Amino acid sequence: MLKTHEIALDPSDRQRTLLAKSAGTARFAYNWALSKWNGQYGAWKADPSLDKPTQANLRKELNRAERESFPWMLDAAKCAPQEAIINLGKAFENFFAGRAAYPTFKKRGAHDGFKVSAGFFKISENRIMLPKTGWIKTFEALRYEGAKLAGAATSRTADQWFASAVCEAAGGAESQGAESQGAEETAEKTAGIDAGVREYAASDGDRRPVPRAYRNLERQIIHAQRSVSRKEKGGKNRSKAKLRLAKLHAKAASIRSDWLRRMTAEIVHENSAAAIEDLNVGGMKKNHRLAKSIADAAFGEFRRQLECKAKEKGAKIIAAGRFYPSGKICSVCGAKKERLPLSERVWNCEICGSRHDRDLNAAVNLKKYADSSAVSAC
Ligand SMILES: [Zn+2]
Repeated sequence: MLKTHEIALDPSDRQRTLLAKSAGTARFAYNWALSKWNGQYGAWKADPSLDKPTQANLRKELNRAERESFPWMLDAAKCAPQEAIINLGKAFENFFAGRAAYPTFKKRGAHDGFKVSAGFFKISENRIMLPKTGWIKTFEALRYEGAKLAGAATSRTADQWFASAVCEAAGGAESQGAESQGAEETAEKTAGIDAGVREYAASDGDRRPVPRAYRNLERQIIHAQRSVSRKEKGGKNRSKAKLRLAKLHAKAASIRSDWLRRMTAEIVHENSAAAIEDLNVGGMKKNHRLAKSIADAAFGEFRRQLECKAKEKGAKIIAAGRFYPSGKICSVCGAKKERLPLSERVWNCEICGSRHDRDLNAAVNLKKYADSSAVSAC
């Protein structure tokens, strides 16, 4: 069973240049082969004793010409131009089968990317090794750990590079370590998780920053949304802007769900009960509506995934009532602070003098909430 996992990359500037080079070479090879195909096809029509074009022959032809005519191609991943021409072959197959339009030339910047054949890349925890670039940091680990890698494709959307790894996942089970163990092994432990805009903090002091790629996308979504509303209704530019917005939403959703999947699996693996806020009220009134709705979407999915995994494992998820002020209670003495402006990331309890990190303190209070409601439930 083939499964694909798209992972956001965090390349260095040098690696960005190399990725762009391989993508450029792939595009060049595709366009070169398409132009040759058109020529050879025309020649075959005029003289059927000639060979019809095939992607295999075109790949050989490019290989022979490469060193002399296009020496710069040698700086790119070797499989990039080859895979591009294989793709062209598939595009023609689809065209002849009536499934797709006649292949067209690729433009720079539209769908930049290149394919990497199996055996030409490796993935290890939070990094991926691609040809020519060496190891590139990624924002998350491969979801199907230990799966056989059947190929990969890189792509760039608005300056963010992604790698889609195609894996042969045995039995379709997601190997996440955490999920492979039975519910009976779950430790009798509770946790509180404070879900913030910038990070998710756990009561044991573990902090998970929201992935930078995701935060960047959030910003781009807000821009793109504004751009849509500025464009004239029914116009061509508006539909273009809408498409861009939709793409950004899709990218964001994929990064978000990968990141949340890992985090929620760990929470449920390590705890028998966890408390979260009922609503994402974590002080977001300052942001305007759109930013809030994006953060709410992330929180909503966090809760959904957490509850779904907890159900599988027999763990308990407790949502603290929306009037439980987890952020404003001192987790040491229990005193409630009347006012706590958003800008105060760190605050001092006026009663006992404890110094609190805002998010961590909230997480500790949520853990207390989990402890008390776990007892009262029994
Ligand atoms: Zn206190």
